[in-house]
Amino acid sequence: MSELISTARDLSAAGWTEAYTRSVMDTFGPPQRILVRGEGAYVWDAEGKRYLDLLAGIAVNVLGHAHPTLTAAVSAQLGTLGHVSNFFGTPTQITLAERLLQLAGAPEGSKVFFTNSGTEANEAAFKMTRRTGRTRVLALEGGFHGRTMGALALTHKPAYREPFEPLPGGVEHLPFGDTDALEAAFSPDAVAERGEVAALVVEPVQGEAGVRALPPGYLALGRRLTSAAGALLVLDEVQTGMGRTGAWFAFQQPEIGGGVVPDVVTLAKGLGGGFPVGAVVALGERAATLLGRGQHGTTFGGNPVAAAAGLATIGVIERDRLLARAPEVGKVLRQAIMAGGNPLVRGVRGHGLLLAVELARPVAPQVAAAALDAGIIVNAVAPDAVRLAPPLVLTADQALDAARFFAGVTVPENPEEA
Ligand SMILES: *Cc1c(COP(=O)(O)O)cnc(C)c1O
Repeated sequence: MSELISTARDLSAAGWTEAYTRSVMDTFGPPQRILVRGEGAYVWDAEGKRYLDLLAGIAVNVLGHAHPTLTAAVSAQLGTLGHVSNFFGTPTQITLAERLLQLAGAPEGSKVFFTNSGTEANEAAFKMTRRTGRTRVLALEGGFHGRTMGALALTHKPAYREPFEPLPGGVEHLPFGDTDALEAAFSPDAVAERGEVAALVVEPVQGEAGVRALPPGYLALGRRLTSAAGALLVLDEVQTGMGRTGAWFAFQQPEIGGGVVPDVVTLAKGLGGGFPVGAVVALGERAATLLGRGQHGTTFGGNPVAAAAGLATIGVIERDRLLARAPEVGKVLRQAIMAGGNPLVRGVRGHGLLLAVELARPVAPQVAAAALDAGIIVNAVAPDAVRLAPPLVLTADQALDAARFFAGVTVPENPEEA
């Protein structure tokens, strides 16, 4: 069987990269390495070099690579019943929906819609906002919600949006963390001019904008204003969900969520531990019934294999107490990086195992490249910040290995010397 999908070609890393460039669309730029294998927090490239993966497929591989429980669950489900249409239900899909509602502490009447990715989850949430009968949606500057047309309308970055305009209308981007601007958006003048607010859509911690947490109190204010206006509070937890900040959902972390309960939560990245699956969790009957029969759909969303991956991921997070471990290992990582005393390192921000190393100069791409050479995968998430979103199974020793890199990394002042 495996001969049928064999990739055993006598190619060097450069040869693979050349083949990639010839055959894969150039939306991502050339691959940094060609990776062939993973185990736990490590991956190996085509030349046999090992890397400590502190990015985990961008906050996806919460259980690390090739986790035996996840592998077994996916294999068993695929070998039993791999796909059915949404004309049919499956025990795995139904059970994952129930588990997500439990984990979210969802009230009676709450429901789930499954997708394959984060952007699709936000797409569904965006469609839900239209079903309020209002079209005015508030999002934040720096917000990232995905690349399909609706999610892109919610996303702020002009370079992502502008080549694809016109996008679905009605979205206003408010300055990040600005409570006055948030209040003004709900003011009688704003409503008279632009209409009632359908929803406020935010990430509790902005991931792609550089691991920026909303200031304390912002979400609580957002909740008060949306509730008073009959608008939805939609939290994009595609990156922050599934234990990354030390709770199942970031809104459940007191220092992030401040006790706020949203109407809608979107999930994806970590949900399947690396298997593609996303979800919209609608809390309460009103949100759960916005999309009526026939108003939304997907072929693959809720696929039994994806659902099995979600159940296995949740099961391992619970069994191995990874919610407690994320902040513990995160703390070791932050403290060890700061103790390294490198003048290039100004600080570490973030929560749990969603962190950014703040640099004294805008040299994040050079630091990420140096890390790769040193066998560590990180990501330059802002000009002066490097993101760490490692598997939640990262050990304290592995965290210390990472810290040793940050203690020693240097980037020449003069780019000519680089
Ligand atoms: C990654 C991400 C998305 C998009 O998810 P995809 O699976 O890439 O479509 C949406 N929102 C947030 C907060 C993300 O981090």
